[in-house]
Amino acid sequence: MARESKDHRKTRTQSIIASLKKAYPDAHCELNFTNALELLIATILSAQCTDKRVNLVTSDLFKKYRTAAEYAQAPSAKLEEAIKSTGFFRNKTKSIQTCCRALVEKHRGEVPETMEELVELGGVGRKTANVVLGNAFQRNEGVVVDTHVARLSFRLGLTKQKQPEQIEQELMELVPRNEWTLFSHLLIWHGRRRCFARNPDCLNCEVRSLCPRLGVKIAK
Ligand code: SF4
Repeated sequence: MARESKDHRKTRTQSIIASLKKAYPDAHCELNFTNALELLIATILSAQCTDKRVNLVTSDLFKKYRTAAEYAQAPSAKLEEAIKSTGFFRNKTKSIQTCCRALVEKHRGEVPETMEELVELGGVGRKTANVVLGNAFQRNEGVVVDTHVARLSFRLGLTKQKQPEQIEQELMELVPRNEWTLFSHLLIWHGRRRCFARNPDCLNCEVRSLCPRLGVKIAK
Protein backbone atom coordinates (compact mmCIF):
# COMPACT_ATOMS: atom_id res chain seq x y z
CA MET A 1 0.00 0.00 0.00
CA ALA A 2 1.43 3.41 -0.97
CA ARG A 3 1.98 5.82 1.90
CA GLU A 4 -1.40 7.17 2.89
CA SER A 5 -1.98 10.83 3.79
CA LYS A 6 -3.48 11.59 7.17
CA ASP A 7 -6.53 13.16 5.53
CA HIS A 8 -7.10 10.04 3.47
CA ARG A 9 -6.73 7.86 6.54
CA LYS A 10 -9.27 10.01 8.38
CA THR A 11 -11.75 9.69 5.52
CA ARG A 12 -11.13 5.93 5.36
CA THR A 13 -11.68 5.70 9.12
CA GLN A 14 -15.06 7.43 8.71
CA SER A 15 -16.01 4.88 6.04
CA ILE A 16 -14.90 2.00 8.27
CA ILE A 17 -17.03 3.40 11.11
CA ALA A 18 -20.05 3.75 8.80
CA SER A 19 -19.72 0.17 7.55
CA LEU A 20 -19.23 -1.27 11.03
CA LYS A 21 -22.23 0.68 12.31
CA LYS A 22 -24.30 -0.98 9.61
CA ALA A 23 -22.91 -4.41 10.48
CA TYR A 24 -23.30 -3.94 14.26
CA PRO A 25 -26.12 -1.44 14.87
CA ASP A 26 -26.40 -2.72 18.44
CA ALA A 27 -22.68 -2.62 19.36
CA HIS A 28 -22.33 -1.91 23.07
CA CYS A 29 -20.34 -2.79 26.17
CA GLU A 30 -20.87 -6.52 26.76
CA LEU A 31 -20.15 -6.37 30.48
CA ASN A 32 -23.30 -6.33 32.60
CA PHE A 33 -23.66 -3.42 35.05
CA THR A 34 -26.30 -1.15 36.51
CA ASN A 35 -24.09 1.63 37.89
CA ALA A 36 -20.56 3.06 37.65
CA LEU A 37 -19.21 1.06 40.60
CA GLU A 38 -20.40 -2.22 39.06
CA LEU A 39 -18.82 -1.32 35.74
CA LEU A 40 -15.56 -0.39 37.45
CA ILE A 41 -15.44 -3.77 39.23
CA ALA A 42 -16.47 -5.70 36.09
CA THR A 43 -13.79 -3.96 34.03
CA ILE A 44 -11.07 -4.79 36.56
CA LEU A 45 -12.24 -8.43 36.45
CA SER A 46 -12.24 -8.48 32.64
CA ALA A 47 -8.44 -8.36 32.33
CA GLN A 48 -7.35 -11.61 30.63
CA CYS A 49 -10.89 -12.98 30.94
CA THR A 50 -13.94 -13.19 28.70
CA ASP A 51 -16.89 -10.85 29.28
CA LYS A 52 -19.10 -13.94 29.49
CA ARG A 53 -17.13 -15.33 32.42
CA VAL A 54 -17.08 -11.91 34.13
CA ASN A 55 -20.87 -11.63 33.76
CA LEU A 56 -21.32 -15.06 35.35
CA VAL A 57 -19.18 -14.05 38.32
CA THR A 58 -20.69 -10.59 38.76
CA SER A 59 -24.27 -11.87 38.70
CA ASP A 60 -23.56 -13.21 42.24
CA LEU A 61 -20.88 -10.75 43.27
CA PHE A 62 -23.04 -7.66 42.75
CA LYS A 63 -25.71 -9.13 45.04
CA LYS A 64 -23.17 -9.67 47.85
CA TYR A 65 -21.29 -6.38 47.55
CA ARG A 66 -23.25 -3.23 46.82
CA THR A 67 -20.98 -0.36 47.92
CA ALA A 68 -17.32 0.61 47.70
CA ALA A 69 -17.13 0.31 51.51
CA GLU A 70 -18.32 -3.30 51.34
CA TYR A 71 -15.57 -4.22 48.86
CA ALA A 72 -12.98 -2.29 50.88
CA GLN A 73 -13.91 -3.98 54.16
CA ALA A 74 -14.36 -7.53 52.84
CA PRO A 75 -11.81 -10.12 53.97
CA SER A 76 -9.44 -10.50 50.98
CA ALA A 77 -9.71 -14.29 51.04
CA LYS A 78 -13.49 -14.09 50.67
CA LEU A 79 -13.29 -11.71 47.74
CA GLU A 80 -10.55 -13.80 46.12
CA GLU A 81 -12.76 -16.87 46.35
CA ALA A 82 -15.72 -15.04 44.80
CA ILE A 83 -13.75 -13.87 41.75
CA LYS A 84 -11.34 -16.80 41.43
CA SER A 85 -12.64 -18.12 38.12
CA THR A 86 -11.80 -14.84 36.32
CA GLY A 87 -8.06 -15.58 36.78
CA PHE A 88 -5.31 -13.44 38.35
CA PHE A 89 -7.66 -13.26 41.30
CA ARG A 90 -5.11 -12.12 43.90
CA ASN A 91 -4.04 -9.11 41.84
CA LYS A 92 -7.63 -8.33 40.91
CA THR A 93 -8.69 -8.47 44.56
CA LYS A 94 -5.87 -6.07 45.43
CA SER A 95 -6.91 -3.68 42.65
CA ILE A 96 -10.58 -3.78 43.69
CA GLN A 97 -9.81 -3.17 47.36
CA THR A 98 -7.21 -0.46 46.67
CA CYS A 99 -9.52 1.52 44.46
CA CYS A 100 -12.56 1.00 46.69
CA ARG A 101 -10.62 2.23 49.75
CA ALA A 102 -9.69 5.36 47.78
CA LEU A 103 -13.33 5.80 46.72
CA VAL A 104 -14.40 5.69 50.36
CA GLU A 105 -11.58 7.94 51.63
CA LYS A 106 -11.55 10.55 48.87
CA HIS A 107 -14.89 10.41 47.08
CA ARG A 108 -17.50 9.46 49.72
CA GLY A 109 -17.81 6.05 48.09
CA GLU A 110 -18.82 7.48 44.70
CA VAL A 111 -17.01 6.78 41.41
CA PRO A 112 -15.51 10.08 40.16
CA GLU A 113 -16.25 11.30 36.64
CA THR A 114 -12.83 12.50 35.51
CA MET A 115 -9.85 10.67 34.05
CA GLU A 116 -7.43 12.34 36.49
CA GLU A 117 -9.38 11.24 39.55
CA LEU A 118 -9.99 7.72 38.25
CA VAL A 119 -6.36 6.92 37.46
CA GLU A 120 -5.31 8.33 40.83
CA LEU A 121 -7.43 5.77 42.69
CA GLY A 122 -4.82 3.03 42.36
CA GLY A 123 -5.69 -0.29 40.77
CA VAL A 124 -7.30 1.59 37.86
CA GLY A 125 -5.43 2.21 34.61
CA ARG A 126 -6.32 4.46 31.71
CA LYS A 127 -8.11 1.67 29.84
CA THR A 128 -10.41 0.86 32.77
CA ALA A 129 -11.02 4.58 33.32
CA ASN A 130 -11.97 4.99 29.65
CA VAL A 131 -14.46 2.11 29.88
CA VAL A 132 -16.11 3.63 32.95
CA LEU A 133 -16.17 7.20 31.61
CA GLY A 134 -17.49 6.19 28.19
CA ASN A 135 -20.10 3.67 29.27
CA ALA A 136 -21.27 4.67 32.74
CA PHE A 137 -20.99 8.45 32.29
CA GLN A 138 -21.22 8.84 28.48
CA ARG A 139 -18.01 10.88 28.49
CA ASN A 140 -15.62 10.51 25.56
CA GLU A 141 -12.28 11.12 27.26
CA GLY A 142 -10.29 8.56 25.28
CA VAL A 143 -10.47 5.39 23.20
CA VAL A 144 -10.44 2.02 24.94
CA VAL A 145 -7.54 -0.01 23.54
CA ASP A 146 -7.83 -3.69 24.38
CA THR A 147 -6.37 -6.64 22.50
CA HIS A 148 -9.06 -6.47 19.77
CA VAL A 149 -8.73 -2.73 19.23
CA ALA A 150 -4.94 -3.02 19.05
CA ARG A 151 -5.06 -5.92 16.57
CA LEU A 152 -7.72 -4.43 14.30
CA SER A 153 -6.24 -0.92 14.30
CA PHE A 154 -3.00 -2.38 13.01
CA ARG A 155 -4.58 -4.66 10.40
CA LEU A 156 -6.78 -1.82 9.19
CA GLY A 157 -3.70 0.38 8.78
CA LEU A 158 -4.92 2.99 11.27
CA THR A 159 -1.76 2.91 13.37
CA LYS A 160 1.60 1.16 13.45
CA GLN A 161 2.06 1.84 17.15
CA LYS A 162 2.35 -1.12 19.51
CA GLN A 163 1.82 0.42 22.95
CA PRO A 164 -1.83 0.90 23.99
CA GLU A 165 -1.40 4.55 24.99
CA GLN A 166 0.29 5.42 21.69
CA ILE A 167 -2.34 3.51 19.72
CA GLU A 168 -4.98 5.46 21.64
CA GLN A 169 -3.36 8.81 20.81
CA GLU A 170 -3.34 8.05 17.09
CA LEU A 171 -6.93 6.77 17.12
CA MET A 172 -8.05 9.92 18.94
CA GLU A 173 -6.68 11.95 16.04
CA LEU A 174 -8.49 9.84 13.44
CA VAL A 175 -11.87 9.26 15.05
CA PRO A 176 -14.33 12.10 15.82
CA ARG A 177 -14.49 12.60 19.59
CA ASN A 178 -18.23 11.94 19.84
CA GLU A 179 -17.57 8.42 18.47
CA TRP A 180 -14.59 7.39 20.63
CA THR A 181 -16.58 5.07 22.89
CA LEU A 182 -18.67 3.58 20.09
CA PHE A 183 -15.57 3.11 17.91
CA SER A 184 -14.02 0.77 20.51
CA HIS A 185 -17.22 -1.25 20.69
CA LEU A 186 -17.35 -1.54 16.91
CA LEU A 187 -13.78 -2.84 16.69
CA ILE A 188 -14.27 -5.19 19.63
CA TRP A 189 -17.47 -6.61 18.12
CA HIS A 190 -15.77 -7.01 14.74
CA GLY A 191 -12.75 -8.63 16.40
CA ARG A 192 -14.99 -11.15 18.16
CA ARG A 193 -17.20 -11.94 15.19
CA ARG A 194 -15.07 -11.57 12.04
CA CYS A 195 -11.50 -10.31 12.43
CA PHE A 196 -10.35 -13.14 14.68
CA ALA A 197 -6.78 -13.19 16.02
CA ARG A 198 -6.18 -16.41 14.08
CA ASN A 199 -7.76 -16.88 10.68
CA PRO A 200 -9.68 -13.63 10.24
CA ASP A 201 -12.69 -14.09 7.97
CA CYS A 202 -11.53 -11.55 5.35
CA LEU A 203 -13.61 -13.17 2.62
CA ASN A 204 -16.87 -12.16 4.30
CA CYS A 205 -15.60 -9.01 5.96
CA GLU A 206 -17.83 -5.93 5.86
CA VAL A 207 -14.82 -3.58 5.58
CA ARG A 208 -12.69 -5.66 3.25
CA SER A 209 -12.50 -2.97 0.55
CA LEU A 210 -11.26 -0.47 3.16
CA CYS A 211 -8.68 -2.74 4.80
CA PRO A 212 -5.03 -3.21 3.75
CA ARG A 213 -4.96 -6.35 5.95
CA LEU A 214 -1.56 -5.51 7.37
CA GLY A 215 0.15 -8.48 8.96
CA VAL A 216 -2.56 -10.92 7.87
CA LYS A 217 -0.72 -13.91 6.50
CA ILE A 218 -3.45 -16.01 4.98
CA ALA A 219 -4.60 -14.15 1.87
CA LYS A 220 -8.25 -14.98 1.26
S1 SF4 B 1 -10.45 -7.57 5.84
FE1 SF4 B 1 -9.64 -9.16 7.20
S2 SF4 B 1 -8.03 -8.14 8.37
FE2 SF4 B 1 -9.30 -6.53 7.51
S3 SF4 B 1 -10.82 -6.09 9.09
FE3 SF4 B 1 -11.71 -7.59 7.71
S4 SF4 B 1 -11.30 -9.58 8.66
FE4 SF4 B 1 -9.90 -8.06 9.59
